[in-house]
Amino acid sequence: MLLGGLQKTTLIDYPGKVACTIFTVGCNFSCPYCHNKDLVLKKKFKKSSLSEIKEKDFFNFLDKRQKILDGVCLTGGEPTIQPDLASFCQKIKNKGLLIKLDTNGGRPEVVEDLISKRLIDFIAMDIKVDKKNYSLLTKISYERIIQSLALIITSGLDYQLRTTLVPTIHNSKNLTLLAKEIKSLALKNKINPKSLVWRLQKFLPQNCLDEKFNRLPPFTGQELGSLLAAAQSIIPQAGGDF
Ligand code: SF4
Repeated sequence: MLLGGLQKTTLIDYPGKVACTIFTVGCNFSCPYCHNKDLVLKKKFKKSSLSEIKEKDFFNFLDKRQKILDGVCLTGGEPTIQPDLASFCQKIKNKGLLIKLDTNGGRPEVVEDLISKRLIDFIAMDIKVDKKNYSLLTKISYERIIQSLALIITSGLDYQLRTTLVPTIHNSKNLTLLAKEIKSLALKNKINPKSLVWRLQKFLPQNCLDEKFNRLPPFTGQELGSLLAAAQSIIPQAGGDF
C-alpha cells in the first residue's frame, strides 16, 4: 500500500462512528476540480510536504487507538488501485475494526472482491456526472462505473452515493439526467429507488488539479438549491451537504 496521509480521529468521515482516515496515493481519474492533487499525482506527492506512511507504523497506531476507534476510512486518491488492498483490509478487520471505503467506482472487480470477502462495511462512491460527461473526468468506461454502482446498491451494506457540484460541469439538465440514470439502474436491479442514499456536495476552489478551477467561483446557495431541486425531482430523498 502506498499511504500518504493519516487523520488520526474523525467524527464525520464514517457516519455515526469514531474513525481514523488513511489516504492512499494515486488515482485512475483526473477530475480537474480534484482538491487532492498532491495525493492523486505520484510525482506531486514526492515533491509535496506529504510523506509516505509505512504500513507498520499505521498498524502500530491502530494498536494504540484500538479502544477509541470503531473503524477506519480508506480514501485517496483511489484506494482500489492499490494491489494489496484486500490483504490490508484483512489486517484491519483482524483488529476488530469496521472499514469504510471511498471509491470512484472505476474498478468494479476490486469492489466486488472486497464485498464478497466481507472486508468492507460501508462504501461511499462518487457518482460524478451523467453518462455523456463522464469522459471529461476519466478514460474509464461508464459501464464500469455502472457496474460498481449496481454492486454497491445491491450489496446490502451501508452506502452513500455522492456528487460534488462543480460550475462548468454540472447544471440542472445533466443533474436531472444523472438522477434518472441512477433511478433506472436501481429499478433494473430491483432496488426500490426510495431507498437510494445520494448526497450532493459543494465544490470548493482549493488546491485543484487543474489550476483554472482554483479561480472558479463555487455555486451560490441559490444555485445549489436549484440543483438539489433538480435531483429531488427524480430522487426526492436526495440530500445536500451544503
Ligand atoms: S476527485 Fe477523486 S476520483 Fe477525481 S481525481 Fe481526485 S481523488 Fe481521483
